[in-house]
Amino acid sequence: MTGTRILVLNSGSSSVKYQLLDMRDNARLAVGLVERIGEETSRLKHTPLHPGDAAAREQNRPIADHEEALKAVAAELAQDGLGLDSPELAAIGHRVVHGGKRFTEPTVIDDAVLAEIERLIPVAPLHNPANLTGIRTAMALRPDLPQVAVFDTAFHTTMPESAARYAIDVKTADEHRVRRYGFHGTSHAYVSRKTAELLGKDPSEVNVIVLHLGNGASASAVRGGVCVDTSMGLTPLEGLVMGTRSGDIDPAVIFHLMRVGNMSADDVDVLLNKKSGLIGLCGDNDMREIRRRIDEGDQEAALAFDIYIHRLKKYIGAYYAVLGRVDAVAFTAGVGENAAPVREAAVAGLEELGLAVDGELNSVRSDEARIVSPEYARVAVAVVPTDEELEIAQQTYALVGGA
Ligand code: AMP
Repeated sequence: MTGTRILVLNSGSSSVKYQLLDMRDNARLAVGLVERIGEETSRLKHTPLHPGDAAAREQNRPIADHEEALKAVAAELAQDGLGLDSPELAAIGHRVVHGGKRFTEPTVIDDAVLAEIERLIPVAPLHNPANLTGIRTAMALRPDLPQVAVFDTAFHTTMPESAARYAIDVKTADEHRVRRYGFHGTSHAYVSRKTAELLGKDPSEVNVIVLHLGNGASASAVRGGVCVDTSMGLTPLEGLVMGTRSGDIDPAVIFHLMRVGNMSADDVDVLLNKKSGLIGLCGDNDMREIRRRIDEGDQEAALAFDIYIHRLKKYIGAYYAVLGRVDAVAFTAGVGENAAPVREAAVAGLEELGLAVDGELNSVRSDEARIVSPEYARVAVAVVPTDEELEIAQQTYALVGGA
């Protein structure tokens, strides 16, 4: 293998996000997004980044399918001298949402791997088909190039059975592959490792609670670099209050809404995944807007914020107990990296657990990983910007024989 470039592809049902990186220095050469694939109003936004920052280019025209999308991306890259036919390209790394129990590591994709990702569609009906389409399209474009799947679930496959199994009939659970898989694994892996680095320690020496708070949100308990519990479950619906997802509820709410509210299973699915969480509670799912409303005295927004924080605190407490000793709590993703009031409220009153934030440090805005707890605190509170694309690129590069 001579190339040092990795293309990272994140294929959704109607979108493709991509980044091209040079692994010699982890530099981003180009980033972009194709959205609304299959609609009249498709859009491709391509930003060349290196060398020098050229202006972003946009195409606004119908893009029928993923094949057309990827060909358009390839043409944009070629225009910058970064074409997919370049010998510099070492591999393509694909984000794949669900890898089930079997995929514990990034994996070079062959027919058997494709078949297994397909077999997992029943547990990831929204994501895996889109991921597969992206992979197949990329393979058709460059059949000779190694293509690697990096799974959102892989980091969580180390969970003990006591954390991964739901307390339901074992035969039924196994027949339908019902268990806790967890998601955002690439982010939890990256952030827990970065947090250890920030503390000047090896990941094997530290216990970290990672709070990935974006539009989707999840918590994980990481002992010595190994995930021992996480808040998302069979699907990304379980756990924390999210932008549009409810997180934990009594499962009987579902039968109740079906029996008494005359809702179908699909209706409840849409309710809990798309119309709940912050948007269901107050009509907004953007934390900036919610904080603005709270500052203006809006009671509905204040209650939504309190419910969000209450759940977050419960998970911090639960994972503290799971780990026994906690060295750091790391906040990441859109809300975790940017919303100082969320970090402050999440640890407020937890001084007895060694947790506190320093008001001044916490209010500093920065893209750098940093500690925002006071010197005296027993547990470090860290803000660690996540970088899932870099993690996917590094895992892909390592697997195909790069450094
Ligand atoms: P993500 O899914 O990681 O891209 O996070 C997206 C979410 O981050 C948005 O819906 C906002 O709620 C939140 N967010 C982004 N920027 C800020 C900010 N400056 N302050 C507070 N929340 C933010």
